[in-house]
Amino acid sequence: MVDTVYLDNAATTQPDPRVVAASASWGAGFGNPSSMHATGRIARAAVDRARAQVAELIGASKDEIVFTASGTEADNLAIRGVLGSMRDGRGHLVVSAIEHPAVLETAYYLQQCGLELTLVPPLENGIVDPDDVAAAIRPDTRLVSVMSANNVTGTIQPISRLAKIARERGVPFHTDAVQAAGKMPLDVKRDGIDLMSLSAHKFHGPQGVGALFVGSDLNIAPLILGGGQERGLRSATENVAGIVGFGAAAEIARAEMSSEACRLVAMRDRAIETVLGSVSGAYLIGDRYRRLPGHICLGFSGLEGEAIKLLLALDQMSIEVSSGSACSVHHAGSPSHVLTAMGFDPISARGSLRVTFGRFTTNDDVDRLLAALPVAVSSLRPLNSSR
Ligand code: PLP
Repeated sequence: MVDTVYLDNAATTQPDPRVVAASASWGAGFGNPSSMHATGRIARAAVDRARAQVAELIGASKDEIVFTASGTEADNLAIRGVLGSMRDGRGHLVVSAIEHPAVLETAYYLQQCGLELTLVPPLENGIVDPDDVAAAIRPDTRLVSVMSANNVTGTIQPISRLAKIARERGVPFHTDAVQAAGKMPLDVKRDGIDLMSLSAHKFHGPQGVGALFVGSDLNIAPLILGGGQERGLRSATENVAGIVGFGAAAEIARAEMSSEACRLVAMRDRAIETVLGSVSGAYLIGDRYRRLPGHICLGFSGLEGEAIKLLLALDQMSIEVSSGSACSVHHAGSPSHVLTAMGFDPISARGSLRVTFGRFTTNDDVDRLLAALPVAVSSLRPLNSSR
């Protein structure tokens, strides 16, 4: 049997064995971190250690980290939390048009509740222009939210400039760093960020655990009410094993980030150059350089409507990638709102392939992709096609 080559690390990553070991070692304990006895205190200490590890990954202090059950929940808590802390429920929200649905759907929900919303489109290269965000901010703007790196194109956004613009106007700045965290340096203090969403499973941690950084000078309202855990911002007994794994994943990512980024960039650039040079009609989507180290988003002219077929052809060859459309089984084949916002027409916006490398991707995996892709593309092109 041929080994599967997994190149869909933007969807989720294989947990690092060191993370699995950390979560498993906790499995021997079972305490509730809110209990006052010794078993409870052991659990609390494990959660606190993980909180410090996660905080260190983004330059925060540990009491600014709120654990959640996902990146999606962190995004909801950030946006609804800021707006919910303002009792009149009125005002204006500025959000980039290329956000993950966790942000966009929350923004649309608030719009239905009466909030005004401005969506800022990116430039053609997928990057949000700080001048456009500055122009969108109004005196009644309550929050600006722009992601750190995009999950479809991999483009890295100028978050320190965006945060500065928001701060100068006295508006809190949220960034969804779910794709960026663990892959590129992030520093909430240096960059003046008020809220940052994270998710462990995107950088070799466990699924079902996330965090929201909430700057100590910001008040937000909780979404989940109850026993008052997580400084009252996220009631519920903590997922201790998941949180311990998250902490371990954060520590490993921080320690290995620079060497790992170099390794991934070399593989990424070799793959991009080879595909663009050998597959006719192939083009790169998103900025060539300002992109996550292991992230490639490709289009193939003439095959834009066939992205799903291309994905399935590669799957037949045991190469697992993602369609850059809505990139999930829930929206397969629909145009990507990210590509539409970048100016792609509705057909072209259905047609990209997202290839994302991770810690366990090898040069051999890249070779297998580079051998399979031209075969998959030509199997979908008419025989007499010159493209
Ligand atoms: N934000 C971005 C940019 C993402 O890519 C994702 C997941 O794909 C999320 C948020 C949601 O994270 P989670 O899967 O932890 O809910």
